[in-house]
Amino acid sequence: MIKKIIICFLIINLSIFLFLSCDRKAHDVEAAVASLSTDELAVDVEILSSDEFEGRFPASPGEEKTINFLKDEFEKAGLIPGNGDSFFQEVPLVEITANPQTDLVITGGKNPLEFAFEDDFVGVTLQVQEKVTVEDSDMIFVGYGIAAPEYQWNDYEGIDVKGKTVVMLVNDPGFATEDPELFNGRAMTYYGRWTYKYEEAARQGAACAVIIHETEPAAYGWGVVQNGWTGPNFSLVSEDGNASSCAVESWITLETTRTIFEAAGKNYDELKKLAEQPGFKAVPLGLKANLTLENRIRNSVSRNVIGLLPGSTRADEYIIYTAHWDHFGKNHNLEGDQIFNGALDNATGTAALIELAEAFQQLGSPPERSVLFLAVTAEEQGLLGSDYYATNPIYPLTKTVAVINMDSLNIYGRMKDIRIVGYGQSELDDYVKAYAEEVGRVVLPNPTPEKGSFFRSDHFPFAKQGVPALSAGSGIQHVEKGEEWGLAQTEKYIREKYHKPSDEFDPDWDLSGALEDLHMYFKIGYRLSMESTFPNWKEGSEFKQKRDTDMENR
Ligand SMILES: [Zn+2]
Repeated sequence: MIKKIIICFLIINLSIFLFLSCDRKAHDVEAAVASLSTDELAVDVEILSSDEFEGRFPASPGEEKTINFLKDEFEKAGLIPGNGDSFFQEVPLVEITANPQTDLVITGGKNPLEFAFEDDFVGVTLQVQEKVTVEDSDMIFVGYGIAAPEYQWNDYEGIDVKGKTVVMLVNDPGFATEDPELFNGRAMTYYGRWTYKYEEAARQGAACAVIIHETEPAAYGWGVVQNGWTGPNFSLVSEDGNASSCAVESWITLETTRTIFEAAGKNYDELKKLAEQPGFKAVPLGLKANLTLENRIRNSVSRNVIGLLPGSTRADEYIIYTAHWDHFGKNHNLEGDQIFNGALDNATGTAALIELAEAFQQLGSPPERSVLFLAVTAEEQGLLGSDYYATNPIYPLTKTVAVINMDSLNIYGRMKDIRIVGYGQSELDDYVKAYAEEVGRVVLPNPTPEKGSFFRSDHFPFAKQGVPALSAGSGIQHVEKGEEWGLAQTEKYIREKYHKPSDEFDPDWDLSGALEDLHMYFKIGYRLSMESTFPNWKEGSEFKQKRDTDMENR
């Protein structure tokens, strides 16, 4: 009798428990979302962007402060070390500084031509060598320098460029012609990006890869090229000391280009037009390039910070939140403020990692899949920390469900629109749309896809390895002040603060829109962490093939 009563009691209790636990779970998600706050976000941003953190430059005292702060915050949020018993992943970097006292000399025309470093051309090497020389290297115009089987396009077809100097246009034929049938129309594909062009030239065995600078297709002026390609240049180091990359990676101005083509007896504008057409054949210029770079080499080690929330039932499948912790450090040559605090870029995204980790802790019990919080280094130096993780992953990429990247949150208040960079590429877009519908926001593409923003933050190295990666956030349609006002704010920031010491924390920032974006990041990550499916790239995306192969071999 007693036994029966106990069993009966147990059954009733169990069903109440099951009922409650379902209800509890739903309740906990809302509680987790509600635990996110603008105040806590602001506190983290203020600390990370304070002068004490010295602009968070990789492999500097500012790095020590930053990564230890992140480790402490991750621990407080209940994360465990994401790399064995460590919260850090070492990222070996090499810093190569070329002596700017060098000329590019072109021979083979009537008279030798001499071009000055910085004003007429820039050049760097990734090869870890104190001196690299390009000597009497045949110059060949290879159009856009693209070999893209999916677009039936090969600028290298039928030619051998081993040891030669390839000269090429920036962006891709779709941008130049605005023909929606060519590549991705005006939106830049990865084939349009300079990183791709140097990679392809190296695969083809070229000694020297030269990109012709034109402001519109590059999306930035010569000044940006000068800044980026002079002074110390950071890169990852492969075992062979980057011997497989081109000896020299260079840009030349449009004026330099015209002078060179004239000396070659060629019409630059005509050849450029030809290069936009399918079936273009590379054109030897009959000239030879000569250049020597003398380099100062410094090896250093920076660190990604990684915390893990182990999943409850499918712990070997992973959702990764990423944000870059680094910025530009200090410049002692500047008068006045010398510290690049990088408050918006990207103390905000880094702070978001901490806040999201804390929100997941509020769930009460962990989600089914594991969630990783990855703060990467050296984004500003060319996505190096994320590239290192994506090519040396701690957890298999075939088991990595998705990446959600956060780079510079919204500081202007609530926006109606959510913008996806690389809109239409992956099924993660549908997660954003579902969320937007739930809260009455609208999803729109990034308004300037020709600028290639998709290739310019930390989601991209993951995409390149096939992992669906999302970069989405507030747009410009301010809920009260409208679109023109919203656009004006972002333009003002780019003009006055972007990558400048004036990117500082301001207690008057309106973080209410950033908070809504945090809700979105949390909800999408949570949804992915509770599903068993693997989202993929959409048909036509250049990253789909890699993912398909990986999924088959999983
Ligand atoms: Zn930046």
